[in-house]
Amino acid sequence: MIKDTEVCIVGAGPAGASLSHFLSARKISHTLIDKASFPRDKVCGDGIAVDVMNTLKRISPELLHSFINESSLQPSWGLGLRTSNGHEIRYDFRENGLPYAPFFTGKRLDLDNFLVRNLNPAYCDFRQDTLVSNVVRTPDGIIVQLKNSQGNESDVRANIVVGAEGEKPIVTKYLGLDHYREKQHLMGAIRIYYKNVKGFHPNGHLEFFMDKKLSPGYFWVFPLPNNEANIGLGMTSSRISQKKLNLKKAFHEIVNRNPVLNEMFAEAEALEKPRGWGLPVMTPQRTIAGERYALLGDAAGMIEPHTGKGIGPGMVSGRLCAQYIEEALLKKKYDLMPYQEHIYRYYRIEMRIGHALLKSFKYPALLNSAISLSNLGIIKRWSHKKATEAWKSWM
Ligand SMILES: Cc1cc2nc3c(=O)[nH]c(=O)nc-3n(C[C@H](O)[C@H](O)[C@H](O)COP(=O)(O)OP(=O)(O)OC[C@H]3O[C@@H](n4cnc5c(N)ncnc54)[C@H](O)[C@@H]3O)c2cc1C
Repeated sequence: MIKDTEVCIVGAGPAGASLSHFLSARKISHTLIDKASFPRDKVCGDGIAVDVMNTLKRISPELLHSFINESSLQPSWGLGLRTSNGHEIRYDFRENGLPYAPFFTGKRLDLDNFLVRNLNPAYCDFRQDTLVSNVVRTPDGIIVQLKNSQGNESDVRANIVVGAEGEKPIVTKYLGLDHYREKQHLMGAIRIYYKNVKGFHPNGHLEFFMDKKLSPGYFWVFPLPNNEANIGLGMTSSRISQKKLNLKKAFHEIVNRNPVLNEMFAEAEALEKPRGWGLPVMTPQRTIAGERYALLGDAAGMIEPHTGKGIGPGMVSGRLCAQYIEEALLKKKYDLMPYQEHIYRYYRIEMRIGHALLKSFKYPALLNSAISLSNLGIIKRWSHKKATEAWKSWM
């Protein structure tokens, strides 16, 4: 059986689902495929930043409103960072007149399900539980081969295929394009859900810890609703191999060695075994678009190097891609390279500064001094004001 559609999106995570929302807003028919059945988990820190809220608002203000009121989310009004020598810097934005919190935390099981629950069936043919097993070019389009969980095979014939399939890119592999999993542009991380972690800030701050074992990288403790927490640590893959680091062992060592973490975990109980996943970080050296194809989110390596934030950039890539897909379909000229150029312009600062900052994490002494300096009254007030202005402009 073969179905014709304008666009076939592979992967219904935040990147693919966002593209679907923006294509529906442009009245473009498309098929969205995911091998998982939703709600589905994704190993992540579950930290939701303001670029996610901004993208939801651009889809529709009503969608943002219902998202903010989801009971599975917890608002987070600030963050704290502790260096390896115990210095701490903390920002709280509760009293700054923001319309809502600058961060939320919520399990990806719920966030990703929220996005697919609200897809528009008038334009989106959503097929979950369906694996993309091959992507083939033909003289006049792309054939995406599918296999559902009952073993039934079918094809989708599209003008454009979009790879939003996450960290293990398959669209590029099937199209015979460059594979980009070089270690210097990949981070490795683990996540563990816990309950009964104590000592969170009353305004639900995201807590970050630096540790000499983890440079360049960090340890996070994020509060979740229902007295649960998302705990994890991550670092560049090249350093993990160099140091032959076992992240699971490092996790326990760091908790035992750090007096603040030790106290936070005194009565804590793990709800799962540590789960690992890769984070492909932004670099302008990749090809992420071309004739009849584009890549989004992790499949395009859209994670910010210094923060590990990829949900928002994945959704932004979906938003920007929709615009170029519409133009391509109207002109019947399917080269999507202008989308790549736009992405690399849009994220040029994150790419440059992000990599430099990540490198600076290699030098704990430098970071300790930088944090002490940032805590000085005038610098702290200036950075607080700048961050507040930035949040407001995104909200
Ligand atoms: C440990 C860890 C912590 C992180 N913490 C944060 C954080 O706190 N905040 C943040 O913003 N980002 C964080 N990230 C990054 C974030 O998780 C990713 O950037 C984000 O999930 C990317 O979304 P995506 O839509 O590109 O891919 P995904 O969310 O991975 O979705 C890809 C989808 O494609 C589907 N798929 C894959 N292969 C196929 C196939 N062959 N056929 C059909 N479907 C397929 C999958 O089932 C999946 O649903 C973290 C990442 C890790 C690993």
